Amino acid sequence: MENKKVVIVGGGCAGLSAAYNLNKTGWDVTVLESQSTVGGRMQVFKENGYLIDEYAQFVHPSYKRAKELMTELNLIQDLHPFELGAGMSVWFNNKWVAAFPNPDDAEAVAANKEWMEYMGEENFGKFAAFCEKYCAGKFYEGSTDWMMDADQDDGSNFGEFVKNNFGERVLEYFVQPVVASLGLEYPEKCGVAFGLQIVWTVLVGGAAVLNGGLGRLGQTIADILGDRIKLGAVVSEIVIEDGKVKGVKCENGDYYECDKVICTVPAPVAIRIMPNMPDEIKKPLEKVTICRTIHSTIFLDKRMTDGVKPVGGLLPRYLDEPFCTCLFQSSRNPAALPNEDSDAMSVFYFGEDKLQKYWDMTEEEVLEHTFTTLKKYFPELPDHYVGGHVVKAPLANFTMQNGCPSAIKEFRDNNYKIVEGLYMAGDYMYTGSYESALNTGFMVSDCLNGKIEHI
Ligand SMILES: Cc1cc2nc3c(=O)[nH]c(=O)nc-3n(C[C@H](O)[C@H](O)[C@H](O)COP(=O)(O)OP(=O)(O)OC[C@H]3O[C@@H](n4cnc5c(N)ncnc54)[C@H](O)[C@@H]3O)c2cc1C
Repeated sequence: MENKKVVIVGGGCAGLSAAYNLNKTGWDVTVLESQSTVGGRMQVFKENGYLIDEYAQFVHPSYKRAKELMTELNLIQDLHPFELGAGMSVWFNNKWVAAFPNPDDAEAVAANKEWMEYMGEENFGKFAAFCEKYCAGKFYEGSTDWMMDADQDDGSNFGEFVKNNFGERVLEYFVQPVVASLGLEYPEKCGVAFGLQIVWTVLVGGAAVLNGGLGRLGQTIADILGDRIKLGAVVSEIVIEDGKVKGVKCENGDYYECDKVICTVPAPVAIRIMPNMPDEIKKPLEKVTICRTIHSTIFLDKRMTDGVKPVGGLLPRYLDEPFCTCLFQSSRNPAALPNEDSDAMSVFYFGEDKLQKYWDMTEEEVLEHTFTTLKKYFPELPDHYVGGHVVKAPLANFTMQNGCPSAIKEFRDNNYKIVEGLYMAGDYMYTGSYESALNTGFMVSDCLNGKIEHI
């Protein structure tokens, strides 16, 4: 009988989802995770009653795998919906303009009309219709199959695409802030398919957060798997010889002999720890680009919203600020705040042209800068903040350059099993979301169980 022993490298969403499903189907799993906690880019930070999702934050309406897993793990009742798109404002003509204003608020409707007219209502309408054509009803399980004909390997980018087809103002006053907000990058640094799905996410609207933080998902799986997860296990090499997996080496000298390994670390790490990786895997993985970000949250002793709107404000790049998204915690998840007189505001620094300066700052310096900048746009903020939290993510978001999704799909479809015993998973195999990471974990377990040939 075939041995059912498998080593999983990486304990983020993809690794945990694979481990959970394989464990259920009788496999002997070992998860090697370099950090001291599981979850990877899904983590919760708690301090003095403030709760922060450090990386992944939102449950999008189209997420199927995540909701199935939350149902199975008895977490689904803790989802808390909020108005992601409808609660957003954009800074335009020296004021906040609601992207989807309350029709009874004449001032907000007039400001929105001014913004729309500036971009050209027809241009905006055409762009929204284009996004709908590509994404509506096809956006499932983090899949990229729907986007193949938008993924031309022509060296262009989403910014150019929008500017050329729908005008510079649609780019600067809508698309750029939205892509910076959810994609954490400039549209010029992203592929067309990537941009379309990001914008569609906002146009569709609603979303939810998980009370207690999304990190509960990973932690619940970790509790089930117990000591099958090895924390602090930094993998230095997945040993491949003669086209077959032989074992896994860790930096501390531990060696796991095995003939099946699931590699779920981000693509650049996978390339580094598999020096013998064949070109059929290496070439597509080299196309994977991952931007970095700083997530800075200030804690406030004043409630800033009515609990519904605004969810957040977007600062377009002509303002020359180092971040775009400013999110109010009270309108996303009041349960993540210590009391009714408190709030928290999160911002995401992005863009290699400015990021380094803030990357080199201490946590206190970043918080101070965050607060001073926010105060310019939200003068109603109190004159002090009561604490905060800063996370620097060197490998934050997969930005899917043109040609990358197609190259990865080609690898999945035609070369997935090119190294005997090696299985790849992770968000970058589909879109850069935890839905896609979880999905690859589900699929790789189906693959090992002989239900499908490849993910
Ligand atoms: C600020 C931010 C906000 C986000 N918001 C959202 C959101 O709202 N919705 C959404 O869907 N997605 C969001 N994402 C993206 C989402 O977090 C990721 O797509 C997803 O969590 C990736 O899961 P993964 O398992 O593929 O990778 P990871 O979570 O990166 O897991 C890889 C694991 O491998 C470990 N590892 C690395 N090297 C080694 C090694 N040498 N040895 C052993 N282990 C190693 C890492 O520590 C990590 O735990 C966000 C990301 C960021 C940064």
